[in-house]
Amino acid sequence: MADEIDATIYYDDDADTGYLDDATVAVIGYGSQGHAHAQNLNDSGIDVVVGLREGSSSRAAAESDGLDVATPPEAAAQADVVSILVPDTVQPAVYDQIKDELDAGDTLQFAHGFNIHYNQIQPSDDVDVTLVAPKSPGHLVRRNYEADEGTPGLVAVYQDVTGDAKEQALAYAKGIGCTRAGTIETTFREETETDLFGEQAVLCGGVTSLVKQGYETLVEAGYSEEMAYFECMNELKLIVDLMYEGGLGEMWHSVSDTAEYGGLTRGDRVVDEHAREQMEEVLEEVQDGTFARQWILENQAGRPNYDQLKTAEENHEIEAVGEELRGLFSWADE
Ligand code: NAD
Ligand code: MG
Ligand code: MG
Ligand code: MG
Ligand code: MG
Repeated sequence: MADEIDATIYYDDDADTGYLDDATVAVIGYGSQGHAHAQNLNDSGIDVVVGLREGSSSRAAAESDGLDVATPPEAAAQADVVSILVPDTVQPAVYDQIKDELDAGDTLQFAHGFNIHYNQIQPSDDVDVTLVAPKSPGHLVRRNYEADEGTPGLVAVYQDVTGDAKEQALAYAKGIGCTRAGTIETTFREETETDLFGEQAVLCGGVTSLVKQGYETLVEAGYSEEMAYFECMNELKLIVDLMYEGGLGEMWHSVSDTAEYGGLTRGDRVVDEHAREQMEEVLEEVQDGTFARQWILENQAGRPNYDQLKTAEENHEIEAVGEELRGLFSWADE
């Protein structure tokens, strides 16, 4: 049992945006992370240029947010730090377009380690390679910043040729608001493998399967779809909110003793040794590159399995039931 925090965590006082004073940051991409990083850096007084394709629909948005926009190679040419915030699957192609614009001593930066860790991008050995990854979707990175609040983040250095790769990455983390909340030092390998495992086994994959299996069990036993939806999907948010605020203890404390006793005696029967063995297998596939290879090939083939799985998920009965119910109640309007 961990009785102390081993991780190094950096806060605002540990970071100096002076490391970016004379620098221009190119933010390549203006999606979830890109729009948040670019605007937060800009509001923090750091010179930013957004790199987008000529015909990109994001160009108008970036311009109306008051930012300079150029093509990815033009932006990289002006920049000292190039932050790659396009989807992971298109990063190798985008890197090919900008790599000749990186000067010795420039920084190539990521918000996820996939392409470096699995060798899909092999940076030249005369640039710094760093990672600054908010542990949050981009719209919250922006919203928190505007509310003078922070977003927890990660920082890692893969290659340090200048000697101040980490200090500069921390300056960037400060510029987007991550050191306000705390930024944990990690490695590209750890960030990549834990991120993939988490989203596969627990956050995105594990939890949706748990919800669907629970829903199907109730509906097949003759209970109404509406009751099954509320019990297995809607209430999940309330439970997760309690865990988010105060851990498992706060959740168990807040539910009834009956729920607590039932959950403590039944939970491990449902997510049992078999599930644990499957988790270990999923982790091994992340660690040995099996998942990465599969996903890269899937993209090269035009995503046939991915499209099929997406369609099946969209067509699950719980989605139609949920859409109808969310229209009838007011909780969904935040
Ligand atoms: P996104 O899908 O929101 O980004 C889309 C952006 O990339 C758009 O501006 C689009 O114009 C541009 N783009 C798309 N295809 C392109 C192409 N072929 N050429 C040039 N530009 C193209 O991406 P995101 O979710 O912000 O992810 C960016 C990075 O941040 C990824 O490495 C991701 O793993 C990481 N990350 C994401 C999150 C998240 O919650 N979304 C959290 C942490 C880290
Ligand atoms: Mg340059
Ligand atoms: Mg993640
Ligand atoms: Mg991820
Ligand atoms: Mg209940």
